[in-house]
Amino acid sequence: MTEEKKSLNFIEQIIEEDLQSTHSRESLKFRFPPEPNGYLHIGHASSICLNFGLGERYGAPVNLRFDDTNPIKEEQEYVDAIKNDVLWLGFKWEKECYASDYFQQLYDWAVELIKNGDAYVDSQTSEEIAEQKGTPTEAGKESPYRNRAVAENLELFEKMKNGDTPERGHVLRAKIDMAAKNMLMRDPVMYRCLHKNHHRTKDNWKIYPMYDWAHGESDFIESISHSFCTLEFLPHRELYNWFLEKVAQRGELKPKQREFARRNLSHTVVSKRKLMQLVEQGVVNSWDDPRMPTISGLRRRGYTPNSIRKFAESIGVGKRENIIDASHLEFCAREDLNKTAPRVMGVLNPVKLVITNYDEDKEEFLETENNPEDETAGTRNIPFSRELYIEREDFKESANRKFFRLTLGKEVRLKSAYIIKGEDVVKDAEGNITEIHCTYDPKSKSGSGSEESLRKVKGTLHWVSVKHALKAEIRLYDRLFTVENPDGDKEKDFMQFVNPNSLETITGFVEPSLKSAAVQDKFQFQRIGYFCVDKESKDGEPIFNRTVTLRDSWAKKK
Ligand code: ATP
Ligand code: MG
Repeated sequence: MTEEKKSLNFIEQIIEEDLQSTHSRESLKFRFPPEPNGYLHIGHASSICLNFGLGERYGAPVNLRFDDTNPIKEEQEYVDAIKNDVLWLGFKWEKECYASDYFQQLYDWAVELIKNGDAYVDSQTSEEIAEQKGTPTEAGKESPYRNRAVAENLELFEKMKNGDTPERGHVLRAKIDMAAKNMLMRDPVMYRCLHKNHHRTKDNWKIYPMYDWAHGESDFIESISHSFCTLEFLPHRELYNWFLEKVAQRGELKPKQREFARRNLSHTVVSKRKLMQLVEQGVVNSWDDPRMPTISGLRRRGYTPNSIRKFAESIGVGKRENIIDASHLEFCAREDLNKTAPRVMGVLNPVKLVITNYDEDKEEFLETENNPEDETAGTRNIPFSRELYIEREDFKESANRKFFRLTLGKEVRLKSAYIIKGEDVVKDAEGNITEIHCTYDPKSKSGSGSEESLRKVKGTLHWVSVKHALKAEIRLYDRLFTVENPDGDKEKDFMQFVNPNSLETITGFVEPSLKSAAVQDKFQFQRIGYFCVDKESKDGEPIFNRTVTLRDSWAKKK
């Protein structure tokens, strides 16, 4: 095996092997096939990155195909959101396709199957059909309608299509083998009657194809070479191939279904149905609530497309299901934001600091760097004055030698400003500190080049000038669930594990330059974490979502 081959994942190996035998490079074509019944989540991001990533690697087209065969659950809103998310991740599809565009072709093929004795109309109830399914060790029973005459099947199927039969009256089933080892091959249902409006085909159709019938045939219509899906479809592969045998002409290249493992993220759920439950029951505010593992939630939270793509790339594709720790996703966000997010000062839990030897009326603008990781980011000036806010945790009246922040009698540096020394505190009746008094060394101004400016002190604190500060709502998020795998206990409903404290809203103070911050702008609040301007912000009044803390604070909590 060459070095190159070793680094291929198993999906790429399948393609490489096919390129050696059955497939030309030009014949490669992939698709991402979401059902528009909810918003995409981080699991889908893996599938998107896999399929579109293969497209990029092989220079092959990738279709975005909406698997819209169930009018009960599907809506245009979800179609729009899905398109938006894929584009935002930075991918471009070749064609925007809809399984519903193939309803006529699928119907025509179904008629062919009936004519060839490969399908029949069953007039039993779904309960009766289920009872005859058998078990993995016991063959199923044949339906009394299984040997219905072709002409009668055709007539009934047409009636079903026209809505001339009741919804629960009949289904169309493939005629395969009621004793098949694979239970999915025991005369699976191909069509059910549903007198429902479809978001695209409106009331044109009164019958709707089942997933197994629609999916492979849609792949075939679009000349998809490789149809990648998650592992639960492995047993469906036999049926996928059976249907293709029936519709493809001899010698035509048929799509290949291959399976990879679902990706799960810890402390959350990745299932559209369950995410919908969180929205509908008001556990979160919307699909794009920043606590949601949806792509739109992550975007609003401050994740970048790059961080999500890096995440998907680093976990790769696998053959076994596993749970990826949420801290890995957070790590990917930090890595990316560290390079790109401008540094600003924000104080989340303020206490007032008064510099007693600094003139009451004086103010000055101090130069500070925008991003030490980015040479092109430049500098800006921030206002400094006698009264500042600092973080309450950054002061202790008396502290041991390991406390490198502010305490009485000791010196620290105020970031991009001066060295100060703690002198005194003012307390309220309950003994809470309301003000810290300190003195500053006027010669120690950062960047002034003086000897004092270069003097090393142990701690550096961030701060905001009181009279210039911008008050801001800040939303701090924690894990949405208190346990690693809320879905893991079959006896317990995942809703039991919802973290009641996943959102904490506070009022903090940030530097005035943030007044002009736009929705989606991302910043590093120095020493605190990464924050992103929320869409609910008003002009001049930004609301900040905390994307992630600077370090993995969760690991410490455990
Ligand atoms: P959900 O249970 O959330 O509805 P789904 O598989 O039914 O998931 P689809 O819209 O049918 O959702 O999925 C589109 C594609 O994304 C499919 O190919 C599916 O296999 C893949 N996919 C869905 N969830 C994951 C996941 N957690 N990890 C990797 N791929 C996924
Ligand atoms: Mg699905």
